[in-house]
Amino acid sequence: MSHFKTLAIHAGQQPDPTYGAVVPPIFQSSTYAFRAPGEARTFDYSRSGNPTRHALETCLAALEGGTNGFAFSTGMAAETTVLMLFQPGDSILVHNDIYGGTYRLFNTVFRQAGLNPEFVDLRDPAALRAAITPQTKAIWIETPTNPLMNLVDLAAVAQEAGSNGLITICDNTFLSPYFQRPLSLGIDVVVHSTTKYINGHSDVVGGAAIVGRVDLAQRIGYLQNALGTVQAPSDCALVLRGIRTLAIRMEEHNRNALRVAHWLEAHPKVEAVLHPGLPSHPQHALAQRQMSGYGGTFSFKVRGGREEVFRLLRSTRLFTLAESLGGVESLIEHPRTMTHASLAPEILDRMGITENVVRVSVGIEDADDLVEDLTTAFKAV
Ligand SMILES: *Cc1c(COP(=O)(O)O)cnc(C)c1O
Repeated sequence: MSHFKTLAIHAGQQPDPTYGAVVPPIFQSSTYAFRAPGEARTFDYSRSGNPTRHALETCLAALEGGTNGFAFSTGMAAETTVLMLFQPGDSILVHNDIYGGTYRLFNTVFRQAGLNPEFVDLRDPAALRAAITPQTKAIWIETPTNPLMNLVDLAAVAQEAGSNGLITICDNTFLSPYFQRPLSLGIDVVVHSTTKYINGHSDVVGGAAIVGRVDLAQRIGYLQNALGTVQAPSDCALVLRGIRTLAIRMEEHNRNALRVAHWLEAHPKVEAVLHPGLPSHPQHALAQRQMSGYGGTFSFKVRGGREEVFRLLRSTRLFTLAESLGGVESLIEHPRTMTHASLAPEILDRMGITENVVRVSVGIEDADDLVEDLTTAFKAV
């Protein structure tokens, strides 16, 4: 039992010993009876451990090829918990093109707590090497990046980090472990917003961290319990249900997104398509080496500016105008005024998130219907 599709359905999910329930029950209990004074059973209190959460955490660890998984109430709770590994005065090198919420967490909350995030273009090995100081303790990576779909070479960064004793953390939300397994490339900690592909049905917010090192597992497990950033059992059950179809969903997202990307690339009203699966992507070779697929989310640039983009966004019927990504339904959004609106205009300009960038999360509807929806919508542009 070692293949992804089998692990997704069976890891952590053996029939329940009491009644033989095939689906892990939702253990909606905050506390557990001791056998006798001083004799706790496997679980004693649901912040510290819960059987439904344990099933999910075991499955997550198996899918990422790690030893331990941890489920959190949101992606941000997972990130917060992992960042509590560090001390005031520690410096963390952060890829300069990351999810807006992660940027905000670093730049306000953790900077105030004494951590020093230093934003570096981790695509440039010389810039990475030059940024490492004696205070540097970790490197934070997101690849592909949101919304520009730039890639960071995980194996190269992990090697540089390893020779400097730094912890590497990779946000793997965009691809899920089905298409990218950072631990196998030398990364120490994987974090996820399970809100996205891992749950996949847009009905839960959740987060995860997965590690392959005993020392990190102990420290993150301690923090998860001490901070209380855990995911509720009913939400764990929903995420676990989503995971059982992760493989087939990702295949379908990937196929549909590539179809839409190729169609967009040929459209006269499209200036560029930012999709690592296209030969036109500047890091297409790295994509083929590091990822086994491209997922369902990518961006494109409309010829024109905000006015043209808003006309497009007002005119789609199947693609719903909404933030988030990774659900079975197709979504479309304008990063500049929606997901990335919390970033200052200078930062957006520097990153290249211009007014004409549109991001789509391509769902698993019929691809013909998706292309037809965009065909009609572009007529309004
Ligand atoms: C959504 C997202 C997060 C934050 O996760 P939440 O579940 O919304 O807290 C972090 N990283 C990436 C890449 C995301 O897309």
